[in-house]
Amino acid sequence: MAQLQRLAVTAAQILANQIDLTREQQHYLNRVLRLQAGDRFIAMDGRGHWWLAILEAQETGLFASLTEEIAANMELPVAVTLMAALPKGNGFDEVVRQATELGVTSIVPVTSDRTLLKPSAPKVDRWRRIAAEAAEQSERQIVPAVLEPVPFDLAVKDCSQKHRFICVSRGENRHLWDCLSGLEPPQPPLARGEQEVESIAIAVGPEGGWTDGEVQRAIEFGFEPVSLGSRILRAVTAPMVALSLVGAAFEKCQFPKNSSEIC
Ligand code: SAM
Repeated sequence: MAQLQRLAVTAAQILANQIDLTREQQHYLNRVLRLQAGDRFIAMDGRGHWWLAILEAQETGLFASLTEEIAANMELPVAVTLMAALPKGNGFDEVVRQATELGVTSIVPVTSDRTLLKPSAPKVDRWRRIAAEAAEQSERQIVPAVLEPVPFDLAVKDCSQKHRFICVSRGENRHLWDCLSGLEPPQPPLARGEQEVESIAIAVGPEGGWTDGEVQRAIEFGFEPVSLGSRILRAVTAPMVALSLVGAAFEKCQFPKNSSEIC
């Protein structure tokens, strides 16, 4: 199926095995991807389901029929929430795109003491579109949720993930890798929905870093301060390093421990 194009749709667009395509989706499939009536593509509902879909024409425009559900498991065996302080400019576009490629489950834009960017509703819509496009491109089954921006204190207070880490660029803290590799890997079967998955939250600061007070408050709410290494990473690089470490720690465990030839 790798050669088929993917389209993210909402669950509300699917009724009686048909997708009610929006004007933009019809334009994208027909004018951008050059698909014609009868051509196939993969529809993803962003909640873990993929279907083989066939484009069909009617007088009012194009729609698609779902022929069969496709079994796939492209997701990390752990649910990861990225709480990222908003970097200046369009830096958060990059954070959303690359975090989606790396398997993040949800993204919480955070305003902090040193955040310079003032988030707006159009920006949030833009980040959600970027997440949907990146999920299509990287063949994700889910489209990560991009939440409304929240102040740092509220984000750490409301955080319900089991394992919580705050990345701090200076100081003597454990490396995130050491923390992750100490966690129990989930036992197979690993498919989402088949068992309760581990949940992790990772907080990354803005260009100016977290204030001491923010780090202290996060610790009070169960976050462990962690290092990502000896070098100071950009605010857009640090989330990618953290998420890559999560992937390395958990995906390597997808096989039975005695299958060393596979690992
Ligand atoms: N101005 C800060 C300083 O000089 O220490 C650097 C902030 S850094 C550009 C932005 C954010 O990335 C930090 O708040 C932290 O969350 C994360 N970060 C960058 N490098 C890191 C490292 N080596 N270890 C842990 N976190 C790091």
